Amino acid sequence: MKRFKNYSLLHHNTFGIDQKCDELIVFETVDDAVTLAREILDQDAEASSLLILGGGSNLLLTKDFHGKVLTAAKKFEVEVSTKPEDEGSVFLRCWAGTTFDDVVAYAVKHGFYGMENLSLIPGECGASGVQNIGAYGVEAKDVITSIEAVQLSTGKVVTIGAGECGYGYRRSRFKQDWKDKFLITHITYRLSRQFIPHLDYGNIRQVMKDRCIAEGELTGQSLRDIVIGIRRAKLPEPSELGNAGSFFMNPIVDKATLDSVRERFPDVRYFEVSELALSLSEDASRNCRDQKRYKIPAGWMIDRCGWKGRRLGKVGVYEKQALVLVNYGGATGADVVALMHRIQEDVYSKFGIHIYPEVNIK
Ligand SMILES: Cc1cc2nc3c(=O)[nH]c(=O)nc-3n(C[C@H](O)[C@H](O)[C@H](O)COP(=O)(O)OP(=O)(O)OC[C@H]3O[C@@H](n4cnc5c(N)ncnc54)[C@H](O)[C@@H]3O)c2cc1C
Repeated sequence: MKRFKNYSLLHHNTFGIDQKCDELIVFETVDDAVTLAREILDQDAEASSLLILGGGSNLLLTKDFHGKVLTAAKKFEVEVSTKPEDEGSVFLRCWAGTTFDDVVAYAVKHGFYGMENLSLIPGECGASGVQNIGAYGVEAKDVITSIEAVQLSTGKVVTIGAGECGYGYRRSRFKQDWKDKFLITHITYRLSRQFIPHLDYGNIRQVMKDRCIAEGELTGQSLRDIVIGIRRAKLPEPSELGNAGSFFMNPIVDKATLDSVRERFPDVRYFEVSELALSLSEDASRNCRDQKRYKIPAGWMIDRCGWKGRRLGKVGVYEKQALVLVNYGGATGADVVALMHRIQEDVYSKFGIHIYPEVNIK
């Protein structure tokens, strides 16, 4: 276990915000995590000032954090196993601090399939189980089988089945009633030996057509390369331009609100939301008053408000994707929050719809 007092979190958040914490504690083993949980139990009053951190790619720091920041050691640790009763599957048990995309690369290289569409999503394995990360029609919940964690209220090591985690669209119990209650140490993904590509999302098929790749010729590696290419073309690389991916959630609205938007903006794109109970996030659905729900892309509304590519001092809206707020260098969390408020106000006055941040603001 490593401890750093009065530590700058500048290199621990992809927005590139320079705020300090009282103490950063890096746990390297399950035993370390248990020791930490016991320590926190003994200092009950301090339990409220805890921040569990992965790669900080869904985080906006707005002030120094007066408390302990707990993070898993950054190392590639993957155990591969199989089960005689499930010959078609391979199980990857990964340390929480393993970079998620390194696992995707490893899996593709070894012919273990199911994660290709999740290529290049920043962050660590631990957070993948908290966030239920998703891209191009695949979500982490499709491959997660179980999560091992230390329960902070008891110091016990527990294994939680994926079915218990309440997974929905970018949602899990770890973000709700289990928030800050478990320190995840390992996560197990179940992958397939058979390559069954998911191609009907985003412009994957279009890129295949442009590159003359027939479906039968596609490999796990070529699908991963396509996804990486699409992502690089529209999302800023955090090491070059600080950001936390999609800053806002796509709002979910009722029929009356959708109709009023359609009347004024006939070109609005929208999607009917299915599996309502599972997929609704509390903030995203605050615009709803009746039963049928529709998702309107927040990026489209931000763009229509004229924010795409616009700059406000040291921060701005990314020129290729209006959902992404960027730090042009030296910005504070307050600069980003000020931009967020300006955008929220403009979207509300133009569309009558509230949009809320997806990013964890601390
Ligand atoms: C350029 C860019 C593109 C992105 N694209 C996508 C995308 O396509 N799809 C998508 O879903 N997301 C995307 N994201 C968001 C981000 O990558 C994910 O939310 C990711 O899972 C965050 O991982 P992290 O390790 O950085 O977690 P953090 O931001 O550090 O933490 C996220 C949450 O997980 C919790 N947590 C982290 N580690 C642990 C642990 N060991 N135990 C318990 N809790 C833990 C934290 O407390 C926090 O609540 C993008 C971000 C960026 C910067």
